[in-house]
This record gives sequence, C-alpha cells and structure tokens, in this order.
Amino acid sequence: MTTPAPDSEALLRAFRHQSMSLLADTVNMNSYLQKMENFENSHYEDVFLDADSYKTLISSFKRLGRVQNLVGHGNFNVLSFDEMLNYSKRYSSVGAFPKVESDFLEHVFSFNAKEYGFFGDKVISELTAVIPARERKKMSRTGHFLYRGESDALYKKVERDLGPSIVLTSGIRSVVKQTHLFLAKTIQSKGNLSRASRSLAPPGHSYHGIGDFDVGKVGYGSKNFTSEFAKTKEFQRLVDLGYVDMRYPLHNLLGVRYEPWHIKVV
Ligand SMILES: [Zn+2]
Repeated sequence: MTTPAPDSEALLRAFRHQSMSLLADTVNMNSYLQKMENFENSHYEDVFLDADSYKTLISSFKRLGRVQNLVGHGNFNVLSFDEMLNYSKRYSSVGAFPKVESDFLEHVFSFNAKEYGFFGDKVISELTAVIPARERKKMSRTGHFLYRGESDALYKKVERDLGPSIVLTSGIRSVVKQTHLFLAKTIQSKGNLSRASRSLAPPGHSYHGIGDFDVGKVGYGSKNFTSEFAKTKEFQRLVDLGYVDMRYPLHNLLGVRYEPWHIKVV
C-alpha cells in the first residue's frame, strides 16, 4: 500500500478547498441572480429596520408627503434638505421635523447601503447638497427637471429621434425626493431595506441626482417602470439608435433589478 507524500496530500487538500469554494461561489451567484429576478420577494439574508425606526420612518414619510403637497410635485423633485426643514418649520400644515425624524433621515442617508445589499456607488456625499436653479431646467408638460447641458441635450435628441410617443418619466431627483421614494419602497416592503434597495437606489446613490433620467412610452403608465417597457417599439428604437447603455443591466452585480427605462448620462 502506498501513502501519498505529505506535499501531495497538502496539494490534494488545497485542491478540494478550492473546488469547494468555487462551488460555493456558483451557489451564491445562482442564489443572487434568483434573488434579483424575484426582487419583490423577501430573501433570508435581507436586512429589516427595527420596530422603533419603522415607526419613525412612517411619521417622517408622512411629513415629507405634506412638504410635497405644499411645494408641488415638480418643485419637490429638486428640493434640498435644508429647504425641506425650513418649509416644515414655517408651515403648520407640515409641522417642524422633530429631532428623532431629522436624525432618522440623516441616518438613512449616511448608512452604509452595502450592509443591506446595495453595491452601487454613492454619488452624492452631502445630505444637504443643493441643485442650483441656474443648472436645472423644467421640462414642459412633464413636471420633471433636467440638468442643463448634457442631460437636457440628450433628452432633446431622444425626443427628436423617437417622436411624440416618448416621454420623460423621471428627471433630477434631489436627496429629499430620493429619500421620499426610498421610504415609500421600504413601507411597501414592510421595513425590508434590502428588498426596497433592489428596486430603488437608497438616498445619495441615485444617478438621477447627477444627470441620468428615465423615459417611457406615452400612455403606458406604470408599465413604463417594469420589464414590460423592454417589449415596446420605443425601447427597441432606443436600442437600435444606441441610446441604451444601461446603468443597471440584466444580471448586474450591484444589487439592483434590470432597468431598461433608465438612460445613463454621466
Ligand atoms: Zn432611473
């Protein structure tokens, strides 16, 4: 009977170890892709808010909604954090943000999103970032703003090339606007931050803050924000004309669902 020399035993062990970790990687990748395809479902690794924070989330969300009603949906898209606090103090219909709520909003902004599974970049580092009026342009009939320059020019080109059946469905989103959307998603997901961030970038992480925008088909409603949009003639035209350089392609590894409606500018 022959016994393997000690170094070949070590080699064999190393080889086994490597194959096991490759196998584990494959299993992890399959489980990740499955999770992303079923982004609206909960997953065993998901991170949830605790009960107290969830209560604060609800009251902050409602107050943000009252600010939005006060300033209008269009202006709310570009509202800064400080402007939001000022409105809340000045208008009793909103009511000043108590410290527990403003601290909570700050925490949502500064929290490391990788901890709940979002791996996209943080593109805005300051909670109080301002979008100067001279740098933005209100797009007629849409209620949305675009940055003057590259974004505005690209959208005009898309409009020219695709004609009247294409529409801007979301333009600039300030930290406040993104926070409001993210809190709405977190309510929909019953406090599941991971599930919320699979379909919406957390505050500070959205490229809508720095130039990207969304387009849709006129009359297509909320289907514009589903994979259904990828089945439209309009989407095919965008692809054919080379507009589609996706921020969040199918099977991306950033923890975000497929977003065919999102136009990358920056
Ligand atoms: Zn988008």
